Amino acid sequence: MSEKTRQHHKLLILGSGPAGLTAAIYAARANLKPALVSGFEPGGQLMITTEVENYPGFPEGLQGPKLMDMFRAQAERFGTQFYAGDIENADLSQKPFRLQNASVELTCDALIISTGASARWLGLESEERYKNKGVSACATCDGFFFRNQDVAVVGGGDTAMEEALYLANLCKRVYVIHRRDELRASQIMQKRAIQNEKIEFVWNSAVDEVLGDDQKGMTSLKIRNLKTNEIKEHPITGLFVAIGHTPNTHLFQKQLNLDENGYIVVKPGTTYTSVEGVFACGDVQDHVYRQAVTAAGTGCMAAIDSERWLAEQES
Ligand code: NDP
Repeated sequence: MSEKTRQHHKLLILGSGPAGLTAAIYAARANLKPALVSGFEPGGQLMITTEVENYPGFPEGLQGPKLMDMFRAQAERFGTQFYAGDIENADLSQKPFRLQNASVELTCDALIISTGASARWLGLESEERYKNKGVSACATCDGFFFRNQDVAVVGGGDTAMEEALYLANLCKRVYVIHRRDELRASQIMQKRAIQNEKIEFVWNSAVDEVLGDDQKGMTSLKIRNLKTNEIKEHPITGLFVAIGHTPNTHLFQKQLNLDENGYIVVKPGTTYTSVEGVFACGDVQDHVYRQAVTAAGTGCMAAIDSERWLAEQES
C-alpha cells in the first residue's frame, strides 16, 4: 500500500464549484497559497447544466462545464494546489483542523467549506435520460428555455411555489404536481401560487414517466393519480423537480451549527461559522439564492474573511 500524503496548508478549501474556486482565486492572489480538495463532483452543480445565460460577462452565454473550466484555470494561474477526490473525515475540534481520506491527511489553520448542495431527484430512469433536455432542478437557470410552453413543477414546498411563480412569468401554463392534497409551503407562498391564473395544481399525483425523443427532448409527462392509480399523458415540455436539496454537510454534523435542514449557519453578512477559523460559502450555507454568481460572491467573502482572520492570529 502506498504511503498516505500528509501535508499542512495555511488555508484549505473544500469543494470546486463557483464558491470554492472563487475563494481559491482570491486567496491565492492574497498569497495564502491555498489548497483545494475538488470533491467527487468537480465543478459542482454547473457541470450538469448546459447553457448558462445569466452569468454576467458572457453576453452570448456559455456551457456550464466550460465556465467551470475557466474558473479552475484562473485558480490554477495564481498557484492553487488541487487535490482530487473527497474528504471522508473531518476533525474541527482542535487546531490545526484535520481532514483526511484513504490517501491524504491534510491539516490547515483555516478552512473554507464550499461543498454545495445536491438537488433531490425523483429517481426515475426517464428523468435521468431527459435531464437538460426538458428536465431541470432550477427554474431561474433554465426557465427561459421554456418560454410560452406548458411546464410542470413537482413538489409542494416553498421551493416548488417559488419555481412555479417564476415560471408563470415566462410560460404558457404551469402545472404543480404534488403527491398530497395539502401544501407544505408557507401560507404566503401558497396564496400567491393559488391566486396565479397561470398555475394549476394537480393534487395527489406523481410523475410516472418522462416521454420524449432524442432530437426534440421531452415532449410529454405521464402523471399518475395516487388515489385512483389512473395514469394520464399530458403534452408538457419542461419538468422542474423541486422536492428539496440536500446540503453536503454530513462531515460536519455535531461539529458546526447547522440549521434544521442541515445547512451551515453563518454569522449574518459574513462567512463565519460557529467554529473560529472555519468559513462557509456557496450553496452549503444558502438555500435561498443558489445561483453561480451568488455562490461566487460568497466565495470571495470567505477568502477575505479567512485572510483577515489568519492575519489576526499572526499579529
Ligand atoms: P421542502 O422539504 O420544504 O419541500 C419538499 C416538497 O417536495 C414537499 O412538498 C414534499 O412533499 C415534496 N417531495 C419530497 N420528496 C418527494 C418525492 N420523492 N416525490 C414527490 N414529492 C416529493 O423543500 P423546499 O426545497 O421546498 O424548502 C426547503 C427549505 O427552504 C424550507 O424550509 C423552505 O421553507 C425554505 N425555502 C424558503 C423560501 C422562501 O422563504 N422564499 C424559498 C425556498 C425554500 P410532502 O409535502 O408530501 O412531504
